[in-house]
Amino acid sequence: MVSEFDIIHRFFQREQAAPGVLLGIGDDAALLAPEAGSSLVVAVDTLVAGRHFSEQTDAFSIGHKALAVNLSDLAAMGAQPRWATLALTLPAVDEVWLSGFAEGFFALADRFNVALVGGDTTRGPLTVTVQVQGQVDVAHALRRDAAQPGQHLFVTGTPGDAAYALQQLQAGKTVEAELLARLNRPEPRVELGMALAGVANAAIDISDGLLADLQHVLDASGCGAQLNVDAIPRSPALQSLDAQAALACQLNGGDDYELCFTVDADRVEQVYRSAEDCAVQIAEIGIIEPQPGIRGVYEDGSPCALKSEGFDHFRNDSG
Ligand code: ADP
Ligand code: MG
Repeated sequence: MVSEFDIIHRFFQREQAAPGVLLGIGDDAALLAPEAGSSLVVAVDTLVAGRHFSEQTDAFSIGHKALAVNLSDLAAMGAQPRWATLALTLPAVDEVWLSGFAEGFFALADRFNVALVGGDTTRGPLTVTVQVQGQVDVAHALRRDAAQPGQHLFVTGTPGDAAYALQQLQAGKTVEAELLARLNRPEPRVELGMALAGVANAAIDISDGLLADLQHVLDASGCGAQLNVDAIPRSPALQSLDAQAALACQLNGGDDYELCFTVDADRVEQVYRSAEDCAVQIAEIGIIEPQPGIRGVYEDGSPCALKSEGFDHFRNDSG
């Protein structure tokens, strides 16, 4: 019989010392030392089996995604990731599953020097909660309330891919590996987020859909935006759809973990350089305006009606 202690020891406890960790896994709590002068940035997200991922999803992807969605929140604050805790609820002890999960989790953690410093292990329906701690100079943090009229609006990557992959899966179709990875192995824009700290203004990561998440920024900032729908980059997979179906994925699809952010006109050049340094595609998709609401336009300036269907667990029955 494998005990909770065995699981932690075999799969999650690592010997090497990590920066800023005075005491890691094994005591009642971890002792951490944030760098002097920066603020601690904390985020937590839960993935529930059957709700946030299907029972068929491989363990490596679940381990990756549970951390990735949290790192994406830190990226959207401009923060540097430092540490994480992991609360794992398991229906049974499946060692193959656990090693795949740990592999996915640590492969991503190691890329961004995130140390796992504690957690909790319980029995029950498969649920994964990760909390991350990072740091940022408080004056440089990318807050949702910092958008102002005249700022340029940007998005990273090709939004809509994750939603399209999910649609295909739910329709029983086979999904090509590259597209499936956009759903199961999202790439948190950590380096770009850090490069944007103190340079960009407002930022958010797209978890509920571009329109819904942009609206959160606009609500917090008390302004609106013009959105050029033709400027939103479209992946090869979405290009195979008809224009309306592709646009629906781009505007309302969730789970992308791309960044949407605003930049003062005189910083735009600098932002393009940062994106190039980070090898992240960015696109200018609009401009912040004083009057509330998102005003959709096509490239030629003609209006585009927008319908927001952002994901809300307590509003959508399917949530
Ligand atoms: P307690 O009962 O004091 O909360 P636990 O037995 O839950 O202690 O945990 C023992 C140690 O193992 C703690 O340091 C805790 O942070 C760590 N831990 C428990 N589960 C996990 C996990 N899934 N991943 C990483 N660390 C864990
Ligand atoms: Mg505990």
